[in-house]
Amino acid sequence: MSKNLQDKKVVTLAYGCQMSERDADTLTELSTQKGYVPADEMEKADLIIINTCCVRESAENKILGKIGELKKLKEKNPQLRIAVSGCMVQQPGALERLSKRAPHVDIWAGTHNIHEFHRLLDEAEQKGKVAEVWDKPKEVQEAVPLAKKGKLKAFVNISYGCDNFCTYCIVPHVRGRERSRKPEEIISEIKALVETGCREVTLLGQNVNSYGHDFDFEYDFADLLKEVDEIHGLYRVRFTTSHPKDLSDKLIETIASGTHLCEHIHLPIQAGSDEVLRRMNRKYTREYYLSRIKKIRELIPEASITTDIIVGFPGESEEDFQETLQVVEEVRYSQAFTFMYSKRSGTPAAKMEDQIPLDMKKHRLQRLISLQNDQSLAWRQKMIGHSMEVLVEGPSKSNPERLTGRTRGNELVVFPGDPSLVGTLVMVNIHDSNSWTLFGELV
Ligand code: SAH
Ligand code: SF4
Repeated sequence: MSKNLQDKKVVTLAYGCQMSERDADTLTELSTQKGYVPADEMEKADLIIINTCCVRESAENKILGKIGELKKLKEKNPQLRIAVSGCMVQQPGALERLSKRAPHVDIWAGTHNIHEFHRLLDEAEQKGKVAEVWDKPKEVQEAVPLAKKGKLKAFVNISYGCDNFCTYCIVPHVRGRERSRKPEEIISEIKALVETGCREVTLLGQNVNSYGHDFDFEYDFADLLKEVDEIHGLYRVRFTTSHPKDLSDKLIETIASGTHLCEHIHLPIQAGSDEVLRRMNRKYTREYYLSRIKKIRELIPEASITTDIIVGFPGESEEDFQETLQVVEEVRYSQAFTFMYSKRSGTPAAKMEDQIPLDMKKHRLQRLISLQNDQSLAWRQKMIGHSMEVLVEGPSKSNPERLTGRTRGNELVVFPGDPSLVGTLVMVNIHDSNSWTLFGELV
């Protein structure tokens, strides 16, 4: 006997960046329009959606493993529908390769057509299998449907795609050219979220700092931040990612003078050597990057600065790598996301000579992580004895007796407190820390 639509369960997995998480929410929401109810247990699912990432080979391998595992579930329950979507599927030639490798997948979709997922579900019901990847987006997707409602924190897209073409990066090839959403659409989406209890939004774009460059009127990211800052009922505004080449003084001044604009800037440097930066096509020098850091520290002394770093880019010498270590020491990041360079087919860096051997990449990564761990610890230890504003998010994963939340600088804080505080802003006196977490007591 076939199940009622109402009894059908959907489990969605997102791999990769916040955009992928946001897209996964859209896919879940669209499947609820077809009667599916969100659930967690894969074994009981009627629909499993995997939204993929292809930014590094390690991500792809992990996802391929997961898709492979689903074969057993499909054998046990032939009614199960499996959908695979997102960046991995969008790569040129990937659909053919992937569908051969995983014939148990029912629905394949790229990055540009996820907002039509409910239609793909219908087609799969009728035809059994469906595969659709568009070469490019049809229009700026006006975030249909809205971000997940009723959550304390939400991601809100402000732009899609990227025009920067860093030589190592697959993102512009799978997400298309940069398109900014209209300010009024973004503002109304955030207002609707706040009405359902959302208190913190993170504005998402591959390069938020070039937001609005495609408008035929004068309006930039700082203008958008000022408007979002005024939305009544919102406690905190975050954003990611800032490209250093477009980080204007106006933007730093706006963050400095804002009320709800968090003093956290994620400013990926990628490498400390000018020669490597040039070959990465990052369009800034180390000196320029450091001048941006200086300006941030001048106007927002308490700002928490985080970064992304790639080690082992083709041709990176020991001296080049030393320059990365020097920058890390000089900037004092509160956190760094560190990666070994991964060859992405179709990108210019994949064809560069002097690819670095895996052992050397691993060794450099370990040295970098070890330095950053010391820096992260030093950054957090400076907070001991201070009271920090924390947005309470829920019970701590490692100790459910405690609460967890984040500072305005995005540092994780664990402290004893009553669960009724979840969703509120509290002051916490910090008395201890390790490299990743602050520990304290309510003031
Ligand atoms: N648009 C953002 C981030 C995009 S991808 C930005 O420009 O900062 C997230 C991070 O993955 C990048 O910042 C980079 O550090 C890393 N990354 C991208 N491509 C990579 C590759 N081929 N190998 C290793 N790391 C990569
Ligand atoms: Fe990739 Fe560079 Fe665009 Fe970031 S700015 S998404 S690293 S091409």
